Amino acid sequence: MPELPEVETIRCDLLPRICGRAIIAVRITPDAVPLVDGASPAEFESRIKGRRIEGLSRRGKYFILHLSGGLYLVVHLRMTGALLHRDARAPADRYVRAVLSLDDNTELRFADLRKLGRLRLASDPGEVVGRLGPEPLDVAFTAAVLRQAIGRRKAPIKTVLLDQRALAGLGNIYADEALFAARIHPQRRADTLTEADNRRLHRSIRRVLRDALDNRGASFRDYVDGGGREGMHQFHVKVFRRTGQPCYVCGVEVARAKVGGRSTHFCPRCQPQEGA
Ligand SMILES: [Zn+2]
Repeated sequence: MPELPEVETIRCDLLPRICGRAIIAVRITPDAVPLVDGASPAEFESRIKGRRIEGLSRRGKYFILHLSGGLYLVVHLRMTGALLHRDARAPADRYVRAVLSLDDNTELRFADLRKLGRLRLASDPGEVVGRLGPEPLDVAFTAAVLRQAIGRRKAPIKTVLLDQRALAGLGNIYADEALFAARIHPQRRADTLTEADNRRLHRSIRRVLRDALDNRGASFRDYVDGGGREGMHQFHVKVFRRTGQPCYVCGVEVARAKVGGRSTHFCPRCQPQEGA
């Protein structure tokens, strides 16, 4: 599933290419009706046709397309969604469910193999994204903000990091990578982290996300950027999906466990369980 670095990479790709363009036509495939829940395809089309794209922002893993007239199109890619900017004459992409034709002979295509993504129209994007925790790459995201967001939780720290209401944007890849970088066992109860643990975790979350952004996201399965290209960060992860391979720091085999139902990768020596 695309996480913060993947969504932000796509956003940066698309923004200069679609900002200022008008939407001249909308096409939604008949099998994609669940994607536009909250509106019928005809209603969806009539509400956005003719509007200009004034901006593209991100909140957590959500894209927020700012349209003229105070309307927002909120897009969530979920498992297999992709947002692609293509020349209108470019060959069809696989699994395209919705196409916005722009006034410069290009298209914004929403492709989604499993049809779990969502496209929602709203006059207030907050109604769609709901309550989300702080943005970990914001300048305002300090160690104290992280402490405030997670420090009283009794759940395993891995589970808390995945909770979008606690912290926005992390998924399975970057939660595992951040905990490894911070040398914190994924099953440690969040409220047992010391001040030093919290500071290390704060630094690690930011570094791991920035590194992934530098590598244009991680393409373990379906993720592609706004031009349809794979990211490179899957070649740079330290523990994620490296079960049984030697830890780059200590040489011990990377372990895997279920934490809160999610497959979790960690080094048993670098991330000892003490304090849990
Ligand atoms: Zn290790």
